[in-house]
Amino acid sequence: MAQKDLAIFLSKLELFQTPEIKSEQYPTDSEIAAEMLWFAYMNEDIEEQTIADLGAGTGILGIGCLLLGAKKVFFVEKDKKAINILNKNTQKFDKKTYEIINKDVLDFKKKVDLVVQNPPFGTKEKHVDKKFLEKATKITKKIYTFHKVETKRFIEKTFEQLKFKMTHYFEFDFPIKKTMKHHKKKVERIKVGCWRIVKH
Ligand code: SAH
Repeated sequence: MAQKDLAIFLSKLELFQTPEIKSEQYPTDSEIAAEMLWFAYMNEDIEEQTIADLGAGTGILGIGCLLLGAKKVFFVEKDKKAINILNKNTQKFDKKTYEIINKDVLDFKKKVDLVVQNPPFGTKEKHVDKKFLEKATKITKKIYTFHKVETKRFIEKTFEQLKFKMTHYFEFDFPIKKTMKHHKKKVERIKVGCWRIVKH
């Protein structure tokens, strides 16, 4: 599968119907997901690896990993409605080497080779991004994690304290569709970074 095919496949996945403001249910844009996942794949972080997608939402990141040859993917998501859509999305391909876990990420305890996560940005629930980072660093040595560029200093301080260091950094203009009542423009763009971090 080429990057373009991956982006097309991911663009056809179903999204949140009624995103919850409190949980900041912003899906990763399919082009951005494909770009980040393709980089990870070329960097040999995906093929034959056991991967956790924390705060999986409708599953775009973990599904991309499966399509790129992950050995196993754990989707961890606390919201039942998101899980229902995720279930449908995983019917769209043949690979069955995944588990969907309807729990808070704090209750997920398996060790994995890689964590991919686009967690809530911590705008509504303070420091929920930190909670995801802390969890991820407990279960793996390698992480791709998305956060608002605005929170860069906080994020970098957090993972450095957790004895992780950055190897790569990407910046994206994240399109946020007008799915929530409080959004004024049709599509708003916010600057989002993706950090690849590894244990010291
Ligand atoms: N990773 C997906 C979804 C991003 S939105 C994507 O990239 O498209 C963030 C997701 O995290 C939401 O689906 C929200 O329900 C979930 N979430 C928030 N707090 C959580 C927690 N404590 N445990 C598990 N999932 C959580």
